[in-house]
Order: sequence, then C-alpha cells, then structure tokens
Amino acid sequence: MIETKNTEIVCSVCGNKSIQTVLAKSKPATGAPDLDIRPAGEPRHYLKYMVMECPHCGYCAPSLDRPFDDTREYLESEEYKTCGGIISANEAAAKLTKNALVFIKNHNYKDAVRGYLSAAWEFDDENNDRLAKECRKRAVQIMDEHPAAFKGDNNYKLLKADLLRRSGEFDRVIREYEGTAFPSQIMTAIAFFEVHLAASMDSAAHRADEVPGVSAAN
Ligand SMILES: [Zn+2]
Repeated sequence: MIETKNTEIVCSVCGNKSIQTVLAKSKPATGAPDLDIRPAGEPRHYLKYMVMECPHCGYCAPSLDRPFDDTREYLESEEYKTCGGIISANEAAAKLTKNALVFIKNHNYKDAVRGYLSAAWEFDDENNDRLAKECRKRAVQIMDEHPAAFKGDNNYKLLKADLLRRSGEFDRVIREYEGTAFPSQIMTAIAFFEVHLAASMDSAAHRADEVPGVSAAN
C-alpha cells in the first residue's frame, strides 16, 4: 500500500498555490531492478508521484517550487499542451512527458531522459507498446542531440543500450555496444547481455539478475 499525503505548494511560474499529493514514505526496492534501472517492488509504482502539475498554469516539475528557465507562454504552446505529440489518456505519463519538456527547456538533459524513461514505464504497464517505444526514442534523441551532457557518463551510455533495444533499434545496439568494455565488469556484462538480446531481436524488459554472472545482490 503506497502511503501518500497532501501538501500545499506555491508554483514558481504563476505564483498560485495548489494541493499536491506526494509520497509520505518511500519503501526500499525489493529484488533486482530491470536493465533500465526500473526498481522492483513497491517503488516500481511511484511514477505518478514523481511529478506535480500546477492546475493553474500547467507547469510540471518534481516540485512546483523549482524554477523554470523558460516562460509561461511555453506552457501554453501547442507542443507543451500535446506533450510533444505523445498523446494518451494516461495522466501520469502526460505529466512525465511534460516534465521532460520542461527539463529540456532547463537544459537539464539527463533528467529529461529520465522523464521520458519514466513515461515509457507508465506505457509499459498499460501495454501501450507504440508510445512506450516513442518515449524511449525521444530519450535516445536527447542523448544524440546533446552528447556533451552525457560525455563520460557510463550509466547513461549503458542505459542507452536498453533504450535502443526496447525501441527496436537492434542493429544500433549491436553496432555501438558489441565488444565494448566498461570500467566495471558488471557493466561490461550488462552491455554484452544487451547485445545478445538485440541479436535475438528481443525488445522485452529484462531484469539485471538475468545477466550471466550478476546476482540480485549487485
Ligand atoms: Zn502554476
């Protein structure tokens, strides 16, 4: 049972107050995460509490008191209102994709990737394969367009292998990751496993403890 509480918060964009539901207590993950670091156990279902939406101006952020580098006009744009074209009835996914657009405007590209990844998880849960793939493609696109923001970060480099595989870009996984060595053995083993799955044209979710040589304790 997820414990939540209501909190009043002032929006940094429009200055209006709203009541938001947040996690009262978060529990530790139980078991191995997925290859894209989606946690196991109760935290798997925290997604809709990760982003707040201002009911007055539409601003979406992990907390509405966080600053927005762009203008309120952007929040009224067609792009923002339509979640960048990722339209669905899934309210949590809509908030997460809008928050990803906010992160892009804030030049916070890593959190933008995480935003699209979280939206993809929402679509995974409702078996909306098309939009789950689209979110993962947007995440990869951000990494491709802003390489400097991800340079030298092996966690994101490895995450990209899973984003590509799960969006069906098998050839690219093999091309970019076959024979790639990472600083840690576990990461190298995961990359090897991603290439193996891509070669089998497997776009399904897999857990980290399925990787040969990696146990849940890692
Ligand atoms: Zn607002």
